[in-house]
Amino acid sequence: MKIGLVTYAPEKVPGYDIHVFYSKWTNGEVFPAAKDMQNDVTCFCDAKALREDPSLVAVSPSGPALRKNRLFNFSFDYVCPTHPKYQAKVLDYVESLNKQQIEGVTLNLYHFPELEFCTCLRCTELRKKSGLSWTDWRAKTVTDFLKEARSRVKGTFAVEMFPDPIMARERFGIDFEAIAPLVDYFHVPLSSRDYLTNYWVDLLARDFLKILKKPVVVELSGEMLTDEKAEALLKTGSYLSRHGLMGVLLLVHDSENARQIARYAVNNSVFRDWLSKYEFPEMNRIIEDWAKIY
Ligand SMILES: [Zn+2]
Repeated sequence: MKIGLVTYAPEKVPGYDIHVFYSKWTNGEVFPAAKDMQNDVTCFCDAKALREDPSLVAVSPSGPALRKNRLFNFSFDYVCPTHPKYQAKVLDYVESLNKQQIEGVTLNLYHFPELEFCTCLRCTELRKKSGLSWTDWRAKTVTDFLKEARSRVKGTFAVEMFPDPIMARERFGIDFEAIAPLVDYFHVPLSSRDYLTNYWVDLLARDFLKILKKPVVVELSGEMLTDEKAEALLKTGSYLSRHGLMGVLLLVHDSENARQIARYAVNNSVFRDWLSKYEFPEMNRIIEDWAKIY
C-alpha cells in the first residue's frame, strides 16, 4: 500500500509516495500546476464564478444548488454541469495543466449536485433530445464530460466521488461501471474531523473495493491534529492497510502537517508495538520508512 498526501502546498514531502495538490478549489481559486504532482481540479463547484454570474447555478424544483438553500445539505455552491462556457473553462484549465510537467489530473465535483438536479431549460432540452431517462441522461452527461477531460490528460487520470457506493448513479450521475475504463484509479474521500469512531471507514472502503473495477485510494483527513486524533488516524489507516487498497492519502494543510504525522507515528512506541503485535505489515513498513527520515 502506498501512502500519500492531499495538500494545499505545491511541494513533495519525503516519505510520501503520492502527492495530490489542490489546484482548483470550490471557492473558485485557481493555482498554477504543481510540478510532478497529481493536480486536483474542482469542476462544477465554484463560488466565485457563481457570484460573478448567478445564472450558472444548477437548479431543481426545490430551488438552486447553493449552500444557502436549506432544503438541501450542500457544502458548496454548484454550477450546472451542462453549461457550455463554464465546461469549456474547466476543460481549458485541465489542458493548461497538462502543458506543464505534472504527474496527472484528479477531478472532483464533476457531477450533478443531487437527485433533483438539474432542471434548467438547457438540461431539460438536452435530456428530451437524448431520448434517455432522467437517470440515464444524467449519468451519460457526467461520463461524457469525464471523457472530454480524459482526452486532455497525458499522465495519470483519477476521479474523486461523493462516497456513496449504492446511490451514486441516481443521486449524482456517477456511473462507476462506465467511468472505470477512463480512470487509472478511483480516489474515495472519507473526510472527518477525527477517526475516534472509524467502523464506517472500513465499511465504505471495503464496499468501494468490491464495486470499483480499478485500483482505489482512500483519503483521510489529517489536519488539526491532537495526539488523540493522530493516533485514531494512524490506527484507521492501519486497518485500511489490510484491504488491498492502492493507497491511503492524508489530507493536510501544508508540508509541516505531513511531517508532523510521520514524526508522531515514528516516536509513538505504543502505537508501533500495537502495529507489530497485531500484524499490520504494510503499515509497519511505511512507519519504518518514515523512521529513516524523521
Ligand atoms: Zn442545468
